[in-house]
Amino acid sequence: MKKFNILRCINCDSDGNFDISNDSYIKCLNCFSEFRYINQRPLMVKNDFYGFGNLVESARKLKLRDSSGQKNYWDQSIDPKKFFFKELFPKCNKFDLQWEFLGRKVSLMVQEIYNKSNENTLVLDVGAGDARYGAFFSKNTYISTDLVFSSERHNFDNIDIISDVEKLSIANDSADYILNFALMEHVPHPDLVVKEMFRTLKNGGKIFSIIPLTRPEHMQPFDFYRFTQFSIRKLFSENGFTVELIKGSNNALWTPVHYLYMICLSYPFENFKNRFFAILINRFLFILLFPLVFIARKLDKYFPDNFPIYYWVECEKK
Ligand SMILES: [Zn+2]
Repeated sequence: MKKFNILRCINCDSDGNFDISNDSYIKCLNCFSEFRYINQRPLMVKNDFYGFGNLVESARKLKLRDSSGQKNYWDQSIDPKKFFFKELFPKCNKFDLQWEFLGRKVSLMVQEIYNKSNENTLVLDVGAGDARYGAFFSKNTYISTDLVFSSERHNFDNIDIISDVEKLSIANDSADYILNFALMEHVPHPDLVVKEMFRTLKNGGKIFSIIPLTRPEHMQPFDFYRFTQFSIRKLFSENGFTVELIKGSNNALWTPVHYLYMICLSYPFENFKNRFFAILINRFLFILLFPLVFIARKLDKYFPDNFPIYYWVECEKK
């Protein structure tokens, strides 16, 4: 099984050297540390890790990974952008400029990886969450890693290796590509994560990342940072990467209009006592805001590019 070949012991830093004959734990053959093996996932964190008990409990609830029922892009042979909106993020609005941009970038990324890869190409998803992007890489080896703390927001059933992104249990020079989407704001020490991604990426490998400049607090209390394009450049270049591209998801008009729309319509006056009145105002605002949204979409490109919702980032390890 491929995932054991790239596993690294977090106690002695030796690579791919485990006894996997036991059903409930795996053992490092170098330092003899034992790590839990729960529902076919190695749990590669130390026993004194923050929330270890919660992690074990959540891992026990994971379903066994079964790729037969999984969404698979290459069986469908359709445009990756269409697949992105139809299968991976069906609730996301293509009309929203940030999503339109991200859908386009992901589609280009999938095409780029496919043109240069084969079945041995390893795509490592760091902080994978729902691991939705795995559907694109059924032709390659796709391995997802994350902590699986129980959450209403994420379904972690597609996580292969349970690991702390600040101390990845992945061997040096393993991955051909790393995906790192909407993770960086949630980690206490982004610097450590970037160092680990550099270490685990092969020479000549590439990383794709999505990092927010302006997003409301989410997944509280695990929401620590927002990033300017300059902090992103500093973060990656100081840790060895060559930054190829940092591009905002939209320009400065769309961001306030997007949030005005989202806040009015997604949180319809939660604090109003009269429900009926709240819904009435909500519908009224919907009609009022619609032309504004339409105009903002058209005019956004003429506004400055210093106020996007997300940055799309591409870096190489040369
Ligand atoms: Zn060891």
